[in-house]
Amino acid sequence: MRYQPVPDYHMHTPRCHHATGKVCEYAQAAVDAGLKEIGMSDHSPMPPEFADDWRMREDELPAYLHEVEQVRARFDGKLCVRIGLEVDFRCGSEAYISKLLSVYDWDYVIGSVHYIRDWNFDNPEKMNRWDKHGIEQVYCDYFDLVAQSAGTGMFDIIGHPDLIKKFGHRPPADSRRVHKAEEHMLQAVKKADTALEISSAGLRKPVKEIYPQPRIIARAAELGIPFAFGSDAHAPASVGHGMDACLDLLTRYGVRHIARFAGRQRHMMPIQGMAET
Ligand SMILES: [Zn+2]
Ligand SMILES: [Zn+2]
Repeated sequence: MRYQPVPDYHMHTPRCHHATGKVCEYAQAAVDAGLKEIGMSDHSPMPPEFADDWRMREDELPAYLHEVEQVRARFDGKLCVRIGLEVDFRCGSEAYISKLLSVYDWDYVIGSVHYIRDWNFDNPEKMNRWDKHGIEQVYCDYFDLVAQSAGTGMFDIIGHPDLIKKFGHRPPADSRRVHKAEEHMLQAVKKADTALEISSAGLRKPVKEIYPQPRIIARAAELGIPFAFGSDAHAPASVGHGMDACLDLLTRYGVRHIARFAGRQRHMMPIQGMAET
């Protein structure tokens, strides 16, 4: 590690049907990796009209909270364990989500876009839909939805802010439409005073790149938008994965602090090299 560890706020549990490991195993993996703070953020329940098979059901929420609370108590003094959720942003789900967010004292909430209309674009089985829409249009639709998600003011962190590149589809580098959509998204994030996630998950996906890409980081840094780190671990072995690479990228663009959350309040902590005290 070249940097002192920062909190990893993005990890899942088997309740979402595509993750493995108990919460205590994620916590132990974090301690073993030298982390001082983590947060669980499993895929939240959604209203019935947006049901799919890769998230916890509403009736599983109490058990999720109970498990994380128990691990938080067990690791007290060794590791700070925060309790969050990764919520999907889908137009029409706002009332349900806002109610969900009011039923518990969350430490933070990640808002993520995984769908463009009814298309779950990050699902490898739905790749054929790329052929039906132009890449530029898909990117613009995606960033518009991220902007809308920030505009709801319901989220503390925007998850993996350019997930749309996951499988390596790229618009032309000089696409003015895409640049405009990115800028619109960043202005919405700034206005809502929301943090962007810097996520190492892309390093483990076909795109082999951190989310978001350097151009977005540079512009966000210019606008003073804060960042929070997430590995998006779906297995304990991924906890903290790619942290150094993410912190390297942030510091390259002049970002000197990273976000911590407690009770939905954001605090900024300095990013420090290992040699620094
Ligand atoms: Zn997931
Ligand atoms: Zn996600």
